[in-house]
Parts: sequence; structure tokens; C-alpha cells
Amino acid sequence: APRIGVLALQGAFREHRQRLEGLGAAVTEVRLGRDLGGLSGLILPGGESTTMARLMTEYALWEPVRAFHAAGGHLWGTCAGAILLSRDVLGAPPQFGRQDSLNLLDVTVQRNAFGRQIDSFTTDLPVRGLDGAFTAVFIRAPAFTRVGDGVEVLASYGGQAVMVRAGRVTASAFHPELTPDGRLHELFVRECAAPVALT
Ligand code: GLN
Repeated sequence: APRIGVLALQGAFREHRQRLEGLGAAVTEVRLGRDLGGLSGLILPGGESTTMARLMTEYALWEPVRAFHAAGGHLWGTCAGAILLSRDVLGAPPQFGRQDSLNLLDVTVQRNAFGRQIDSFTTDLPVRGLDGAFTAVFIRAPAFTRVGDGVEVLASYGGQAVMVRAGRVTASAFHPELTPDGRLHELFVRECAAPVALT
């Protein structure tokens, strides 16, 4: 089974860990660049992307994660983690200025895209590559408002892209670790099955 990292700075990393372990994957909690050694994949969990971005700087993780990707690592960001992967981030509180991100997906992401009244909701979402809808939990979720050439839209909700993929990078606006449906984690574990040699 592959060894998969879960970025463990903040947010819902324990739920991802449990889900991956339930599928037989070995899991490393990633807080420092050296934790990425020997991993084939990395999940960036949901949480609060401004806080996570600040901690990425504090723990000097931006370049190690980019290098991990360049060396063949697979990445999957959920909710705040999806924001971290995107090229352009809209909707950060103005006092923070331009929000830093990994720029590994050519998309523009709008934070908190679904408005206050429906802050959080669950919906049965058709996802490309899955037979049958996925029960998707959205919590102050973002949406991808611009999707670059070469970025595939895997799911949309209310006319907005909510799951996208390009190469070894996948991003979902919803929280697949909060429902019992393990199919998306299963796909990620399968995708990560080839080991990565970090140089
Ligand atoms: N609204 C959060 C943000 O913009 C994301 C919410 C989540 O990860 N559930 O960072």
C-alpha cells in the first residue's frame, strides 16, 4: 500500500487520516518538509485557508510541497486545501492582501462562494469517474470561478465548478472525509500506488 501524507497544520486532517488508514494506506502527518520523504501522495485538508497559508510560511512548506509535486507526488486538496493549490484566490479578508497559494492548479478560486444563508449544505453530487452520486458536504465552501485550459472539471454545483483535476493535482470544494462514502479516497489511494522518488 502507498504511504500518503496528510498536511497536519490545521483543520480536518484526522478525518482524512482515518479514512486513508481504513483503506489500508500508511499515513504520515506532514508538518515539516522532511515529512514528505517517501510519500507518494499528499492530502491538504479543509480548515481555514488564511490560517493554513500563514502556517505554511511559518513551517517553510511552500517550496517543499512544490518540489514534492515536481518530483511526481500526487496532491489532493479539499476545501481550504483546494484553495491552497489554486493559482488565484479571491475573497480573502482585505487586511491580508493577496493570499499566498501553491499555484499548482491553473484556476481562480472564490472563497466562501455559496453565500451566508447556505453556508453549509449537503447534496448528492454527480462526479465524473464515479458510478452514482457522491454525498458531498460543503462548509463555507469555495468554488472554481475560472478553470484554465487543461484543467478538467469533475463536478459542478449550481453552475460552478466544485471539483477539478489537472495531471497529479485534484481539488474538491467539498469535504469527502466527513461522509461514510470512501470512493474518492479509494481513487486517490489507487492513484498514489506508484512510489515517488524524491531527489
Ligand atoms: N471558508 C474556508 C476558507 O476560505 C474554507 C472552509 C473549509 O475548509 N471548510 O478557508
